[in-house]
Amino acid sequence: MCKSFDVIVIGMGAMGSATCLELARRGCRVLGLEQFSIPNNLGSSHGESRIIRLNYYENPDYVPLLRRTYEGWDRLEAESGEKLHFKTGGLYMGEESCDFIQGTLISSRVHDLPHETWSREEVIKRYPQFNPPQSYMGIWESNAGFVLPEAAISAMTRLALNLGASVHGHEPVLGWDAQEGRVTVRTEQATYEAGQVIITSGAWAGQVLGEMGVKLEVTRQVLAWLWPKRPELFGPDRFPIWAIDDPNGFFFYGFPMQSGRVGLKVARHFYGPPISPDTIDRTPSEADKREIRDAIKQYLPDGDGDILSMGVCMYTNTPDAHFIIDRHPRHQEVLMATGFSGHGFKFAPVIGEIMADLALEGETKHPIDFLRLGRFDET
Ligand SMILES: Cc1cc2nc3c(=O)[nH]c(=O)nc-3n(C[C@H](O)[C@H](O)[C@H](O)COP(=O)(O)OP(=O)(O)OC[C@H]3O[C@@H](n4cnc5c(N)ncnc54)[C@H](O)[C@@H]3O)c2cc1C
Repeated sequence: MCKSFDVIVIGMGAMGSATCLELARRGCRVLGLEQFSIPNNLGSSHGESRIIRLNYYENPDYVPLLRRTYEGWDRLEAESGEKLHFKTGGLYMGEESCDFIQGTLISSRVHDLPHETWSREEVIKRYPQFNPPQSYMGIWESNAGFVLPEAAISAMTRLALNLGASVHGHEPVLGWDAQEGRVTVRTEQATYEAGQVIITSGAWAGQVLGEMGVKLEVTRQVLAWLWPKRPELFGPDRFPIWAIDDPNGFFFYGFPMQSGRVGLKVARHFYGPPISPDTIDRTPSEADKREIRDAIKQYLPDGDGDILSMGVCMYTNTPDAHFIIDRHPRHQEVLMATGFSGHGFKFAPVIGEIMADLALEGETKHPIDFLRLGRFDET
């Protein structure tokens, strides 16, 4: 077995599989190591769908990366021959003054992004499925939709393998050591060597990285699929991806029903209770169910119905909820893409490009300064 590589990628989830693929496209000898199956439902990239959108309330600086990631999704679909990206349009609802609506409008303005603003009456006229509070308005984005996380990770891994990458599932990395331009990576099966290591270990990144100056907090997040009272209203031809601000400081969001899958998916975007990825409680509680049911009853009454499935997932949060993409502060041979804070999946193709740029060229043309570790020095 070959044990020496140009680059080793630790964690073959969203960012790891995208990084392996891009390195393999550029002719690099790359090894991807994953502790579980590829894909798996134990990290942050399961649950059948992830929202993709361009009007980005979190920070307009993400928009150039989003434009590139949309191109990356097109390329991935073309190379894999699979449909992975569904454009449904997106409807965002809240009070005009709330951070969610204001942030979305700021990013639209800064980057001149196509969008429409709708009154509550217009929202209900176009999508009678919704029952937003009286004081709410809507923003409509026709470019929004969803991507398929498990299928995308499989496609990226398969394409990387076809281009000569080595990928090992069920081989947890136990430790690494970086010295004088070489890195050794230990697993139970072997010790591997490479010029560089890229850590894309999701909720385990804090453990794999060791001390790097910023604390990553992992939180427990719950997803649910219900059978709506009126299922005919919720197919992708009649229903968009959506998010609605909740006065309690978070928002609920959801997807249209997907063919080949059963139920209407709804979840809450907030930072759940901090947990350890090794001991997380993966059983949905009565409180988890109640929270989703209450939101559906209030905001999407025709979507209310029996719960079919629930899932537990993890966010890996940075102190400012923005990603960390950089070199390890003490080891130049070690790169990291981590802290995706509950909104990273859509970026996987562009993150793969950025990590390959950093590993192979030492720099990237993509504007990532706002995601560097150094931003935390100033606070
Ligand atoms: C409920 C939920 C909803 C979300 N909704 C959206 C959305 O709508 N849109 C969006 O863009 N984003 C969304 N996100 C965020 C997005 O899914 C994550 O940001 C993204 O999946 C993170 O990818 P990752 O590669 O960092 O982690 P993962 O995909 O979890 O990959 C990390 C991998 O590293 C492996 N690993 C860890 N330690 C080791 C080790 N020692 N050795 C080997 N392998 C190891 C893990 O097993 C795992 O497979 C959501 C997240 C959740 C939880």
